[in-house]
Amino acid sequence: MKPLIVVNAATATFDCSFGRGCEGVCCRHGEPSVTPAEQARINGVLDRVRPLLRPEAASALDADGWLSDQQKVGLPMTRVVDDWCIFFNKGCTLHSVGAAEGDFAKYKPIQCVLFPLEPVGDGTWYVRQRGYEGEEWDDLFCLNPANTTRQAVEALAPEMEVAAALGPAFTWGAEPSGK
Ligand code: SF4
Repeated sequence: MKPLIVVNAATATFDCSFGRGCEGVCCRHGEPSVTPAEQARINGVLDRVRPLLRPEAASALDADGWLSDQQKVGLPMTRVVDDWCIFFNKGCTLHSVGAAEGDFAKYKPIQCVLFPLEPVGDGTWYVRQRGYEGEEWDDLFCLNPANTTRQAVEALAPEMEVAAALGPAFTWGAEPSGK
């Protein structure tokens, strides 16, 4: 497997502080799009995920399902309930169920697994940052490079490994291989 080429590796900083002051704000209004294979994996584990959901999210799931009627990159997106992704409850419940089986990425949409890595479209990637490629990210302090000196390529080593395994042709909307 070829190592991932991150075009802003020299300058990008990032340090996820979930559980260390951040309550998981990247999942507020989180609406990842979900491929058919990812949908099937999530549907297959819903009976274990549902008891972990916020009560209002569980009610929304029962009433309307977990997919919204909106699309991104040609795919349906997860539903938002009271401002948070339906699967969020003090953390990602899909992450928790996967991690309990030894693979945090097993049920999580690939867009969430790889955040804040973004494919450029030519096989290379970049770390999303405030001010890079015109991105704003006023709501996520972790994407303000002024807030940490930790090198993103060190902090994101597990995510980069997943991205590298997808191969250079991967783009959002494609079915991730190897998941
Ligand atoms: S699927 Fe999980 S990681 Fe993705 S936005 Fe929802 S709660 Fe967050």
